[in-house]
Amino acid sequence: MSQDRPRGGAGLKVARPAADTSSVPPLRRTRPDPDARPLRVLLRRPLLVGLAAVTALALTTVGVVVAIVGVLGPRVDRADEALRALQDGHIAMIDQETGLRGFLVTREERFLQPYEDGARELAALDVRLGELARGDAELAGLVADLRAAEQEWIDGWVRPTLVRQPALGDTAALGDLLAEGKELFDAYRAVEAEARAAVEARRAEAATVMGGVLLAGAVLGLAVAVALAVAVRRANRRLTAQVLPPTQQVRDALAALTDGRLDTRLAGTGPEELRDIAGDVNALGRALRDRGALVAAREAELVAARDQAERAGQAKTAFLATMSHEIRTPLNAVLGLTDLLLTTDLDEDQRAHLETIAGSGDSLLALINDVLDFSKIEAGELDLEAAPFDLDGLVYDVAQLLAPQAAGKGLDLLVDVPADRSWHVVGDGTRLRQVVVNLIGNAVKFTHSGQVVVSVAGEPHGDRLRCRVAVSDTGIGIPAEQRHRLFRSFSQVDTSATRSYGGTGLGLAISQRIARAMGGDITVDSEPGAGSTFTVTLDLPTAGAGVPPSAGEGLAGRRLLVVDDNRTNLRILEHQLSRFGAECLVTTSADEALATVRAGGLDAVLLDLHMPGVGGEELAARVREVPGGAGLPLVLLSSSTRVQPDVAPLFAARLHKPVRPERLLRTLRAVLSPGGPVETRGTRRPAPGAPDPGRRRLRVLVAEDHAVNAQLMALYLRQLGHDSEHVTDGAQAIDAVRRGGWDVVLMDAQMPVTGGIEATAAIRATPGAQPRVVAVTASVLDADRSAFLAAGADAFLTKPVRLATLGEALDDCADLGHVPGAAAGTDEVLDPATLAELEDLGPDALQQLYGQYLDGLDRAVDGLAGAVAGGSWAEDDEASVARLAHRLTGGSAALGAVRVAGLCRWLETAAGAPAPELARALADLRTESGRVRDAVGRWLALLPGA
Ligand code: ADP
Repeated sequence: MSQDRPRGGAGLKVARPAADTSSVPPLRRTRPDPDARPLRVLLRRPLLVGLAAVTALALTTVGVVVAIVGVLGPRVDRADEALRALQDGHIAMIDQETGLRGFLVTREERFLQPYEDGARELAALDVRLGELARGDAELAGLVADLRAAEQEWIDGWVRPTLVRQPALGDTAALGDLLAEGKELFDAYRAVEAEARAAVEARRAEAATVMGGVLLAGAVLGLAVAVALAVAVRRANRRLTAQVLPPTQQVRDALAALTDGRLDTRLAGTGPEELRDIAGDVNALGRALRDRGALVAAREAELVAARDQAERAGQAKTAFLATMSHEIRTPLNAVLGLTDLLLTTDLDEDQRAHLETIAGSGDSLLALINDVLDFSKIEAGELDLEAAPFDLDGLVYDVAQLLAPQAAGKGLDLLVDVPADRSWHVVGDGTRLRQVVVNLIGNAVKFTHSGQVVVSVAGEPHGDRLRCRVAVSDTGIGIPAEQRHRLFRSFSQVDTSATRSYGGTGLGLAISQRIARAMGGDITVDSEPGAGSTFTVTLDLPTAGAGVPPSAGEGLAGRRLLVVDDNRTNLRILEHQLSRFGAECLVTTSADEALATVRAGGLDAVLLDLHMPGVGGEELAARVREVPGGAGLPLVLLSSSTRVQPDVAPLFAARLHKPVRPERLLRTLRAVLSPGGPVETRGTRRPAPGAPDPGRRRLRVLVAEDHAVNAQLMALYLRQLGHDSEHVTDGAQAIDAVRRGGWDVVLMDAQMPVTGGIEATAAIRATPGAQPRVVAVTASVLDADRSAFLAAGADAFLTKPVRLATLGEALDDCADLGHVPGAAAGTDEVLDPATLAELEDLGPDALQQLYGQYLDGLDRAVDGLAGAVAGGSWAEDDEASVARLAHRLTGGSAALGAVRVAGLCRWLETAAGAPAPELARALADLRTESGRVRDAVGRWLALLPGA
């Protein structure tokens, strides 16, 4: 501690390191105190001064009291007593003289009595006066003179008088005698007056001394009190001067330390004890600074460790991305060529082998995707999108995707969604889809018989929806002691047994992390041998109010029979149908079904295809034979796609399980309307792989540096009925597009000379007709995808590209008609899918909607023609071709006028296109507008209820 004390001046000094001077503000400085004394000394001094003063005061008082009470007081008393004795002696003398005179006048003995009393008293008083005058020679002499004068009066006059006694009546003799006595008496009185004066002088002297003593005592007391006050004041000042500033410094220093100014130091001043405290504070400051330095060092280490971990994580992700890229490229060729081979003529063995290759390739791809997903999640790179989607729609999509797989195992895959609502939520639908695919996929995989039921429930709260998707199966179940391992990565319940099911043990781990990233979770409930239920819970914002699929009057008054061996499905269908207003009868028994048909009163029968005993097809045939059953509309519910060709005509419609409520309603309404059976939706698009005579032939430019992949693409495109050419880098692709004539460019990402992203951007910057650019890359990183889309790509395909996926992507290109000729490729004026979706709005609303659109259509086309003629293309001009075309694109696409939309979309980006091409596009637009008008009129007239 002592090393912190200053050599010279006192006051608070703040020790500042050279580096950091700005952060330590100086503390208040105080006047130096050269003779600082220890606090105990400072505190003792006023005590001693006080004690001494009190003692002095007490002694003075005692002295005064002793002087007055012991000496001066008695002296005054004695003088008073002597004066009284002199007075009494005088009276006694007068009494004697008066008594004697009375006796002499009267000769009566009684007058001698006062004389005798006086003589006795006088004698006593003389004795008393003698006592009082003892020790005072002068007074004693006066008392003696007094006694002598008495004696002389007695001897000279009293005694002779008593002896001579003049005769009674002899007044002359008496007068003489009395005159004689008076002379002596006066002599006595003179002596007495002298004695009285002497005594009075003594008394006055004593009283004067007493006054002096009292005054001296008072003066002394006052002096002591003043001295005490001065001493106390000085002591107080010294205490204040020596204690308060150092105390304040300590407080300031502590406050500075608390503020984090850890270099604050105290130059200890004041009493020793406070200097010790200053030393302690300095030690505290040092300890805090050291601790701070230690913490900072640790933090730096941790940050370094974290950065290193992040770098390692990034390196891992980059490595996995590269690896996945490297694996995907050859896999692309393997899977693609297998797909192609599968479309050729093969014998059974060859087909089986190729299917095995395709299956294994798919598993390998799934594994790569899982590993990559997992590593992304582990690296904290799971970026969730927020876009609106339909929760129930998503679940139906996944269920329908996996329905063939379930049907292949003879399982019922059912979706239980309350039919009265649809849940529009905001979130990452793609990732949630991945979770649901995994859960339903697992349920199907680990179930050998029975059913898989997916139920969706939601509970709105505020503008959010607490949703729950539960997947229940009747499969092998999971033992309780194994359940904790389910969500661990690379973990399978029973490796020996589950190996036979395949899989990576990553699916649930990924799913749970996705669910948690979305603020939810996945839980499991299971009974070995009886089945499992995996439940995903999420809490998502809602995207507007859910529109009910359709109003209750959709099937009002209809009486329907549903036959299915699966009671869960019966319950779901019954719920949905009664929600639509139908009276619903359900049964699991064929006999009961036939009896109900026979009883009559039914509007339609829904039959499950697969039922033990009597199947759907057989039951349908039997219904037809029952009276009243011949004309009854029958709807087949099936999981599988294959139906015996000879029984198909028995059914008015076919529905694939799981059935969406709105699809069920639409089909039943169509079946029950006088128009008769409808074609099941979805058959419009031909199976991918087969060249479709109605499909438009596209000119496709393939930009790909990998020879095998380029060859594969060429084969695919030929298979799909399109024309293609191949270039090996981005620069060539740009040149080819400049020359024109391309509908679509399939653009690889990594190519020599110019990469795909730059090439796309360059193409988008080229004036004239724009092809659609479909990015094809082995990279699955979001960053690459976003870069491509930012450069202007329209779509994105991930390698390995499958024939079907490519076919769909190119169909979309043809549908959207990016180029003037594209309109010819779309065979319908109005898109049936859009019309089917809109149908639920009802004829009145549709009439109004289309009326408005058609009213403005010609005006919009005229406006466009004017803008083209005026050459107005500026983006910021409201009346430019681009803006007008854009506005018309949106409205037309929403109402299904796809060809008008396609032409407008082309016009949007046609700045700089040759004039004849623009003129042709405008002419086409007018023709198409007329066609739309006719088609809408026809369609609205045919609507049910119109
Ligand atoms: P995998 O790719 O192996 O399916 P998952 O993470 O999806 O990986 O599942 C991990 C393990 O959990 C599975 O291997 C299986 O043992 C068990 N499991 C998952 N779902 C079910 C289910 N529905 N029924 C029984 N076991 C299941």
